[in-house]
Amino acid sequence: MVDLLPQQTVLWQHIEAHARRNFGRAGVAEIRTPLLEHTELFARGIGEATDVVGKEMYSFVDRGERSCTLRPEGTASVVRAAIEHGLLSQGAQRLWYGGPMFRYERPQAGRQRQFHQIGVEWLGVADAASDAEVIALAWDLLADLGVAGLALELNSLGSSADRAGYRDQLVTWLEAHRPQLDADSQARIHTNPLRVLDSKHPETQALLAGAPTLADALSPGSRERFAQVQEALNALDIPFVLNPRLVRGLDYYSHTAFEITSSQLGAQATVCGGGRYDGLVEQLGGAPTPAIGWALGMERLVLLLEQRRASGELALAATVPDLYVVSRGEAAERAGLALAVALRRSGLAVERDTSGSAFGKQLKRAQRGGAAWVALIGEEEVASAQLRLRSLASQQADDQLIPLAALDDLVRMLQ
Ligand code: ATP
Ligand code: MG
Repeated sequence: MVDLLPQQTVLWQHIEAHARRNFGRAGVAEIRTPLLEHTELFARGIGEATDVVGKEMYSFVDRGERSCTLRPEGTASVVRAAIEHGLLSQGAQRLWYGGPMFRYERPQAGRQRQFHQIGVEWLGVADAASDAEVIALAWDLLADLGVAGLALELNSLGSSADRAGYRDQLVTWLEAHRPQLDADSQARIHTNPLRVLDSKHPETQALLAGAPTLADALSPGSRERFAQVQEALNALDIPFVLNPRLVRGLDYYSHTAFEITSSQLGAQATVCGGGRYDGLVEQLGGAPTPAIGWALGMERLVLLLEQRRASGELALAATVPDLYVVSRGEAAERAGLALAVALRRSGLAVERDTSGSAFGKQLKRAQRGGAAWVALIGEEEVASAQLRLRSLASQQADDQLIPLAALDDLVRMLQ
């Protein structure tokens, strides 16, 4: 778990501002759910056989003897909230969320135990065009942020009936090749066989080239639906590659599954992952409701933007004060404080030097911070209830003396 220092938070704010703006344009409203949920929600909503539920959750028993878990992802919570507050009877819900998630994983670049996601969940939306629309939301956000080397990988997991049929075929095939599989994959043959397709072991991956594919197991209806999603993406000029091994780790997905990866990220290359989860709402006690969503990993996106910042492609301006207040001596500092607060109340950005160091040093700091104007207040100025206004931007030779009481004049000059 890491601290985010000001040098980084400017990047986070940059991403968040873009996300908010794009979501606003698409009519996607924000939802905020608690960080803590009943463990049961994730066990049912994500699936006992997944790594997330099986090995990665931060769970504890609270003082009321309830098993609680820090949320490892956002979808289950959003669906719970939508059911609990009757949102699903009010028509389609287009929602987004952002915030910390917790998974007990091995920390490395782009992988942390507290990490952050921005995600989108569209509930009550069934048509193939919506799949493309939801993907476009993620693709355009990343493109907007100037992220290079993006690739969209796409697959269809078919309906639950397609998957059940495929699962049987795959289990038979995996059993026949059991000795050649890595230990993790062997353990998953019966608990989560689709996840074997996703194995990170190169030898297992090579072996899987001969395995039956999901694409061949799709029913004509599922196939047609998948073709429609691809046509819609083509029409939106969003390039994609088909990846028949892309299955996603979570059990509730059906039909469209996708990931957006970046070639600039090394091992943890997936920036955004998502897909359709038509079975989840019902599984969590709601009426059957089609749904689709995605989640984007903020840390990985920040890594990409840090690279752009380091190469000079991305310049993020820190807030530059309209005025920098330089003062020295007790009475002068009091007057400086009053001035700074009054000007901030008028909407100006004012930074006050609190170092008590010599005027020359304070002025240097003002210059470094990029302020256009400096207000100097020393013993003399306080005595005459004035401030000395100096322009740093225009190299104007003459200071102007302005009465401390003439705040309106000063605001006009600085705006
Ligand atoms: P991965 O295969 O990288 O573990 P995942 O399938 O577990 O990803 P999802 O649950 O789909 O990931 O989460 C969506 C996104 O959240 C990921 O694509 C990634 O960008 C980010 N993410 C997931 N786990 C972490 C983590 N521990 N640290 C940082 N980011 C993460
Ligand atoms: Mg993971």
